[in-house]
Amino acid sequence: MGSNLAYIALGSNLARPESRIVSAFSELDALPETRLAAQSSLYRSAPISDIVQPDYVNAVAKIETGLDPWMLLENLLALELAHGRRRERRNAPRTLDLDILMYNDLVLIEKHLTIPHPRMHERLFVLCPLLEIAPDCVIPGIGRAQDLLSPLSGQVLQKMAE
Ligand code: ADP
Ligand code: MG
Repeated sequence: MGSNLAYIALGSNLARPESRIVSAFSELDALPETRLAAQSSLYRSAPISDIVQPDYVNAVAKIETGLDPWMLLENLLALELAHGRRRERRNAPRTLDLDILMYNDLVLIEKHLTIPHPRMHERLFVLCPLLEIAPDCVIPGIGRAQDLLSPLSGQVLQKMAE
């Protein structure tokens, strides 16, 4: 498989989110030139939104991939579409959201792709599952993931039963 290491955030709050995240892990493993290397537990989080909507199920996956960041994004967007994702307004409920958190130690700022993901360091529902599978994780240009937790203590996150 490819020799690049990437972390993907998974989120869903519509249409059986829990089983959807579980199948998304295997769909990541089935992407071209890609292998699922680790998966976090599933977490439940309250939506960050003005819109009333169900809680989210979140998780993080570690993958090894031969896809470059742009091809990886394209494949992730295709998986979202296959789950019936519709592009609505920001923070609207979604069947499946797949974000690239990190790609090796790459720092990239483009119109349609920013790596590391620009909001990952302020989201407990990203950092907690990430630290579970990458305890020593350093976010390029940001710092140690472990050191970013304390300001986020007000966010509600619940690890789900296995
Ligand atoms: P969000 O995940 O922020 O709620 P969307 O899932 O609707 O928003 O994504 C909108 C766009 O964000 C995608 O079409 C993609 O071009 C862009 N984007 C920029 N950086 C990233 C990234 N690191 N991972 C995934 N999408 C990204
Ligand atoms: Mg997204």
